[in-house]
Amino acid sequence: GDVPYQRTDTSDLLSRRREVLGPAPLFYRDPVHFAAGDGVWLFDQDGRRYLDAYNNVQVLGHGNPDVAAAVAGQTRTLTTNTRYLHESVTTLSERLLETMPDELDRVLLVNSGSEANDIAWRLATAATGRDGAIVADHAYHGITESTASLSPKYWSDGTQPAHVETVAPPVRRSSHHWSETTERSEPMIGALDALENRNVGPAAFIFDPLFTSTGIFPPDGEHLTEMTDHVREADGVIIADEVQSGFGRTASNTWGFQEADIVPDIVTMGKPMGNGYPVAAVVTRSEILSTLRDGSGIFSTFGGNPVSSAAALTVLDVLEDEQLLEQAGEVGEHLHSGLAKLATEYERIGEIRRSGLMVGVELVSDRETWTPATDEAVEIVNRLRQRRILVGTSGRHDNVLKIRPPLVFENEHADRLLYGLDDVLASLGDDV
Ligand code: PMP
Repeated sequence: GDVPYQRTDTSDLLSRRREVLGPAPLFYRDPVHFAAGDGVWLFDQDGRRYLDAYNNVQVLGHGNPDVAAAVAGQTRTLTTNTRYLHESVTTLSERLLETMPDELDRVLLVNSGSEANDIAWRLATAATGRDGAIVADHAYHGITESTASLSPKYWSDGTQPAHVETVAPPVRRSSHHWSETTERSEPMIGALDALENRNVGPAAFIFDPLFTSTGIFPPDGEHLTEMTDHVREADGVIIADEVQSGFGRTASNTWGFQEADIVPDIVTMGKPMGNGYPVAAVVTRSEILSTLRDGSGIFSTFGGNPVSSAAALTVLDVLEDEQLLEQAGEVGEHLHSGLAKLATEYERIGEIRRSGLMVGVELVSDRETWTPATDEAVEIVNRLRQRRILVGTSGRHDNVLKIRPPLVFENEHADRLLYGLDDVLASLGDDV
């Protein structure tokens, strides 16, 4: 590309990094040091390519030329504070609302998923006059004070804040996590009761429609709808956190909540929205927005600035022009059938859960005891990295392989991943 790349020694970079960034987390026992990206490929300094089956932010693929041109062009033409009139933020908001149910008619532009959820939470408490929350087990919604308290994944010492209750995800009947003996609304009713017993009123149920951090549980739509109905009966609002599930991840719809018969009161989005350029948003109803203290919305210096708006508009255009949802659906099916075939060979694959190109492969010791195979999952992710294939893990036990590639992933890429996974599964001894 046009950007000069300066080669740096990886171990030197690692120690310099520790000096200034402290223990901030990195992927892999042997961290990867990338120099460039193109489509589904990432390249290290020696030009070795890695297959990216993990990064959803670059939904259109790495180095997308249309986004690069839009960002560069807009940066050269005009960057402003968002208190001046500018075309692209308005067009972007109109375009986003076109993808939403009619009831949702207002947009707030911000810079990160955490910020979007923080504001969503503020809206929910303002609209309801309450401050209780229901979140999914092991969910993650952000780094700010309020969103960290809504994120069981990062509760310090596992301590649950007094205003929050957790629920199990609405698992599908076909799942081994499904329990015939539990009435399916029981967890939500229990959570609402638990809040009430502490004299906390529910402001909101906030959930990622694919329950990604919980371990990737594409929901049973009816079950999820029942859960949200209970929350509404208790006068709480529904917040769909589309940071993971939005922008076509499910392949059948732009938004994850559209997989169920639900119209959320508030929708938040981020990650893939600018294909790597930071931009995020909150979408809600005007009645909810008007409950904020000055009723006028929120001013964010960078939120919806001309450059981030140009990036986000380009993402919406390219998703449509390149029919990436259709492609994601087809490639997702191809990948799923390959994984199902691997599951016939390897008992460690307990369950495959998928929506579009969000795929969870739950690893267990065996299908008798279903003991989470956490060490094996970590080992598989690291061995795939050695074979230059990138995937992650999720779930309470970190035993679910998280496969969440850019939507430009093709069948041949899925085959390469399947081949690598087969190889790695075969290489695992009884000791791991
Ligand atoms: N919500 C969900 C569901 C997420 O996965 C994340 C990030 N992993 C966030 C919110 C926070 O977004 P950000 O990192 O952009 O602040």
